[in-house]
Amino acid sequence: MSLVKPLRSTAVLLAAGLLLTACGNNDSQSETPQAKEEVVVYSSRNEQLIKPLFDAYEAETGVHVRFRTDSEGPLMARIEAEGSNTPADLLLTVDAGNLWQAANMDLLRSIESDVLEENVPEHLRDPDNRWFGLSARARTIVYNPNAVQPGELSTYEALADEEWRGRLCLRTSKKVYNQSLVAMLIEEHGEAQTEEIVRGWVANLATTPFSDDTSALRAVAAGQCDVSIVNTYYLGRILREEPDFPVKIFWPNQDTDTGGVHVNVSGAGVTRHSSRPEAAQKLLEWLSSDTAQETFAALNLEHPINPDIDVDPIVAAWGEFRQNPINVSFAGANQAQAVKLMDRAGYR
Ligand code: FE
Repeated sequence: MSLVKPLRSTAVLLAAGLLLTACGNNDSQSETPQAKEEVVVYSSRNEQLIKPLFDAYEAETGVHVRFRTDSEGPLMARIEAEGSNTPADLLLTVDAGNLWQAANMDLLRSIESDVLEENVPEHLRDPDNRWFGLSARARTIVYNPNAVQPGELSTYEALADEEWRGRLCLRTSKKVYNQSLVAMLIEEHGEAQTEEIVRGWVANLATTPFSDDTSALRAVAAGQCDVSIVNTYYLGRILREEPDFPVKIFWPNQDTDTGGVHVNVSGAGVTRHSSRPEAAQKLLEWLSSDTAQETFAALNLEHPINPDIDVDPIVAAWGEFRQNPINVSFAGANQAQAVKLMDRAGYR
């Protein structure tokens, strides 16, 4: 028995080392990695969205950032399975629902950082400091200007009204983005009222929910439906290729008594078993800094967490909006309740 355990740990470490080498595509053969300070990031954001930042960090600090990219589920399962042997120092992912899950699985550690408290608005970070938002992702109403005047729109809740019967397109409730949206509505209105709203949306659907936001946007453009609820960067991506794409952004719930635009985050936290927590925290703090923020949000046409940072012209053209100030951690805390509610309401 006493022999088996160390052997197994060695095997796990070896496997982890091999896999990291395999994915460490930003390593250069001529470098001597053992001489260089490193941080290891597990990221559900893909390489093109993070590598430019990590390169800039290395140029500025000399600290090399190694990373593995995968979907958040497998990454979290990996960190859990690797336990105290995990090479991961930082977990970077999208949606507060996912970050909350990672914290709930005890994969992240609470950190004290004046820099992060200063740079990350309070509603966009974990109240227990285990994860911090790094970009804001607005999930808002979009409409076809040939079918809808912006004055007809007001709130997410009003899309449940009868005047939208047969005019609404939604993405599937299986996606965490909509689970988070409904979880936040539960926090705001309670379960009974939220269920009424979601039932109204379902009654107003023009067609079966789509698998992704881009399909919903294309359906609005094609006149299959008049309105939808999507993350703005999906429209941004289309507009980069097709500047005349006929779908407009509407910022709902802008009266002070109606909450605000539903925002979610991409964000990160230092892993519970990081062997370099100080170095991981430094990278996380740097990602929240003005220099990094310009790039971080711009790469995916998101909104920086700091509203004073310049945004991409496509994003700037949508104008400013008031965010819902409720803490995004409720997207995770109310997620199970939201999933059941959507199922009851017939939202597939
Ligand atoms: Fe997305």
